[in-house]
Amino acid sequence: MTSVSTNLEDLSWIPRPRLLALRRLGIHTTQDLVTHFPRRHEDRTEFPQFPREETDIPICLCGEVIKTSVRRFGGWKKIFEATLEESQPNALSEPLVCRWFNLHYVQKMIATGQRIVVFGKPRLRGKRICIDHPEFEVIENDEEMSIHFRRITPIYPATEGLSQRVLRGIIYRVLQESADTGSKPIAPSTLVRGERSDAIRAIHFPESWEGRDAAREHLVLSEFFAMQMLITSRRFESTARAGQAHCGSGALLNKFLKALPFALTAAQEKVITEIRRDLAATYPMNRLLQGDVGSGKTVVAIAATLLAVEAGYQAAFMAPTQILAEQHYEVLRRWLEPLGIRVALRTAARQEESGPLPLFAGNENPGSARLKRAGDGILPSRTSLEPESTLGAHYSRRRLPHFEKPWAIYAVTITTARRRSLDPQARSIVLNAWRHFHNSRYELFAICVMPDHLHALFQPWPKTEASAEETKFWSLTELGRSLKSFTAREINRAESKTGAVWEKETFDRYIRSDRDLVEKFHYILRNPWDAGVANKKEEYPWIWTAEEEMRASRSSSPQNAATSTLQACAPQTLASDQPQIIVGTHALLYENVSFSNLGLAVIDEQHKFGVAQRARLTAREPAPDVLVMTATPIPRTLTMTIYGDLDVSTIDEMPGNRGKIVTAVRDTSKLGEVLSFLRTQLEKGRQLYVIYPLIDESDKLDVKAAAAEYELWRERLHPFRCELLHGRIPAPEKQQIMDRFRRGDTNALISTTVLEVGVDIPNAAIMLIENAERFGLAQLHQLRGRVGRGEHKSYCILLSSNQTKETSAKLAVLEGTTNGFEVAEADWDLRGPGDVLGTAQSGLPALKIGDLKRDAELMRRARAAAMSIFEMDPCLEQPENQRFRCLIVEQQGQSFSHIS
Ligand code: ADP
Ligand code: MG
Repeated sequence: MTSVSTNLEDLSWIPRPRLLALRRLGIHTTQDLVTHFPRRHEDRTEFPQFPREETDIPICLCGEVIKTSVRRFGGWKKIFEATLEESQPNALSEPLVCRWFNLHYVQKMIATGQRIVVFGKPRLRGKRICIDHPEFEVIENDEEMSIHFRRITPIYPATEGLSQRVLRGIIYRVLQESADTGSKPIAPSTLVRGERSDAIRAIHFPESWEGRDAAREHLVLSEFFAMQMLITSRRFESTARAGQAHCGSGALLNKFLKALPFALTAAQEKVITEIRRDLAATYPMNRLLQGDVGSGKTVVAIAATLLAVEAGYQAAFMAPTQILAEQHYEVLRRWLEPLGIRVALRTAARQEESGPLPLFAGNENPGSARLKRAGDGILPSRTSLEPESTLGAHYSRRRLPHFEKPWAIYAVTITTARRRSLDPQARSIVLNAWRHFHNSRYELFAICVMPDHLHALFQPWPKTEASAEETKFWSLTELGRSLKSFTAREINRAESKTGAVWEKETFDRYIRSDRDLVEKFHYILRNPWDAGVANKKEEYPWIWTAEEEMRASRSSSPQNAATSTLQACAPQTLASDQPQIIVGTHALLYENVSFSNLGLAVIDEQHKFGVAQRARLTAREPAPDVLVMTATPIPRTLTMTIYGDLDVSTIDEMPGNRGKIVTAVRDTSKLGEVLSFLRTQLEKGRQLYVIYPLIDESDKLDVKAAAAEYELWRERLHPFRCELLHGRIPAPEKQQIMDRFRRGDTNALISTTVLEVGVDIPNAAIMLIENAERFGLAQLHQLRGRVGRGEHKSYCILLSSNQTKETSAKLAVLEGTTNGFEVAEADWDLRGPGDVLGTAQSGLPALKIGDLKRDAELMRRARAAAMSIFEMDPCLEQPENQRFRCLIVEQQGQSFSHIS
């Protein structure tokens, strides 16, 4: 009898090569095996007659090979053909030709006289019915017929060295031999019908199509439920954390609303009420404000900041780019200075106060908040040994990740080159070098330098130019290389040696969760004693932690613990010279701006702001309220998954005073007509954006191309004034260009997509997008949102030279609607199933069976079930809920970490 998690190695009947192939699929246990779900099923209960016509759906056929041949074409290329005959041919039967191009192995597998099953689309080729590149299986003996044929047969994602048949055979036998397939129920019985083990059997070897569908539904629901339990637990976890109420009486807000030149829409009122409720509550707010471009999110955000300011707190307002930060700053000053609110701008390019200029006390380092939280008081002092904690650390030899995530924390082990051992002096060199870049290139949580290797735990930081349109982070490669080469040089000099000091390879892994971080932290702190390099009672000086350094620097300052506690408990009022609202780019998070009393952080354009960054903010103590805003609508299923740990407020209504936006797709050949239309609009006093795509803004060639483009447009639009805007123009100059355009000094702005988000110039009513087919739907919609912001009728012209079926379908969506949510849904429909709107970046685990798109309704049900469990029992204390705890723990630290 095979039990739940038997290791496949322990099943004597699986030959070793098969085990290895299974391992390549990530299958180690019977549990892995039975959850290796079929990709599709074939109806092999009975095979249809051979077709006489083409069909568009693939079909499954069975026949005998009566002839094989190989033909050559184009020199070395080969076509292998197998002609099949039906088992019970009749007078009208036609043979079926199966063809494979350049697949040598097929030729070796198929021979005359065999019976084979093929799956593919029949096509008419001349007079013959052919299937090109069918999937196929050779029927070897009748014994196995009952597993592979005469039933609805599972087809698996295959791997090299493991045929469908072998894999199917193994799964069949494991299912036969195990009493239950291991399967503790995952989802509550209110959500799924039947037993999980039955569903698992039925997904592999269904009795009927209905049975297959029911099994699939069961398994998808379970999978989604597990995912939603984790997401929901995070949401409830943050609710349980200590926060403060940050909500004033609303007098200030009312004053502001009275002064506005327009009335709020009902949707704006509704979301302000929701936000206000959160601000007044003592748990930290974690809310997403979703609303199409131009729906008026900024006003809502200002309302929120005013409530916090009135309660005596500081508010931060973060935008993804320099231009937007400046724009917000202008808007906030215009509206809030008359109310006596002090607003400050903090970006790398410019620092400005609207009120009297105080200097920030820059001693508190915002970066360390993360560590404090991770430790939560359980960080051991570095000399104490904790024999009972056996949290082992496992390294696997890995290459650097092929992509790196912003704000990822890494555990890195670097080994010395063979026969190089670091003496105490060398160890100090290494330790100091790593410390040197702490808080500039990365935040170093902990490091331990051993005689023949080092462990470090750190989080790379963005490179300094905070104004860059896209934040670049120090990469592991860069950091590793410079630290290695620097220390190698120093050590060699000190020891008068030459040659390599370090191994080339780096062992690394992402830190997946707080638990992981703490575990790693402990591991590093224990390392010298665990490894026997230091004696039990002995100190090991080459360990360093940020925590410790901070403690040391504090104790050397005149402040003692008593006074700092006193200060911490002092009434929370803002000194009268401190700005009440700080506007900046997302860089506010990692620059040395210290907030004196941060109550609310507003983050504009969430999609450029990682979940980890948010975590960094919410990790502060006490936690501020966080409001993130996004103008990128995503389908609802994704919202409850990607943003499932947030409360969502949606502005689903546009202000009424908007002119219509007309969107039109035009072929490049119609440029002449388009130009004369543009000129009439410019003559009416409207302003124009011309957007053209650049592949890589850092590319010199592209900058040249941009300049050429600009010359062209100047001629075309003469005598109207044009200016050029792109990402390589330095920030202050960019700002001036925008200012001139805003004032109307310039009539047309020729720009790359740096213009993309949030720019708000009501008189700019015309947009022309060149090579529109090169942009994605969401981006086009964003761009289009720059027009239609005033009372004028607006136009968005999508110029396209390459109208394939796909691009015209894509562009037609925009002609059809200006509603961002509709665009998002259409976008999702147009994309293939595999490509799910950046879920990869959001760190969701790969789904084994569910499909976010197709199974949207099931996700909704799973979410509702998870929510209702947490609502009744937030800590999962009820006996019937305790089993869900391990569900969450299991997933945590695997792929879910950065949703925090
Ligand atoms: P977004 O949601 O894209 O950030 P904004 O907040 O920039 O939109 O608002 C777009 C424009 O609409 C701004 O000029 C703003 O002043 C204006 N606006 C906001 N709310 C209203 C309203 N209720 N009625 C009329 N105009 C409004
Ligand atoms: Mg905006």
